Amino acid sequence: MKIIAIGRNYVDHAKEMNSPVPAEPVFFMKPESAIIINNKPFFYPDFSQDIHYEVEIVLKINRVGKNISPEFAHRYYEEIGIGLDLTARDIQKRCKEKGLPWEKAKAFDGSAPLGDFVNKNEFEDLNNIIFSLKKNNKVVQEGCTKDMIFSFDQLISYVSKYVTLKMGDLIFTGTPAGVGSVQIGDMLKAYISDNMLLKCAIK
Ligand code: ZN
Repeated sequence: MKIIAIGRNYVDHAKEMNSPVPAEPVFFMKPESAIIINNKPFFYPDFSQDIHYEVEIVLKINRVGKNISPEFAHRYYEEIGIGLDLTARDIQKRCKEKGLPWEKAKAFDGSAPLGDFVNKNEFEDLNNIIFSLKKNNKVVQEGCTKDMIFSFDQLISYVSKYVTLKMGDLIFTGTPAGVGSVQIGDMLKAYISDNMLLKCAIK
């Protein structure tokens, strides 16, 4: 399986990063070794001094698809979850300055803590899902999928033009504003509405 993560899908986050609002989706990948499940801790790596949290809604792909049109994209996922796109911001900044790929900053081991999934039928409106992240029990990020620049269906369609989607693949759909650093000892908890679906201690 693979993880496809969308960059800059919320205007307020693009602005806080001083990045332009994209005219088409920006995506990058993380390998399977990035995943942390079962609320296991994240171990702070020694190659970065500035690991950031980014809370994101995650789609789980449930069938093989290529060149999927937006009107059929909803058939390609059934479950929605929440995850953290942990980012070595110091390394990413250096990569951006040099025009280099972001893998070292985004794809390292443990960079994708993943919470429980919920059937999408449990949501009244997929374009109005409220989600949030607490750090040490204080809300640090709050988003709503109505603020996405590209909808779930548009993202699936776009990505599948370039990369065949397979069962079990995950799409991280972008983070809202409020990203920030974590320190050893912090506790992150991610929510869809009031439902805590992910817990991750930083060790
Ligand atoms: Zn992200």
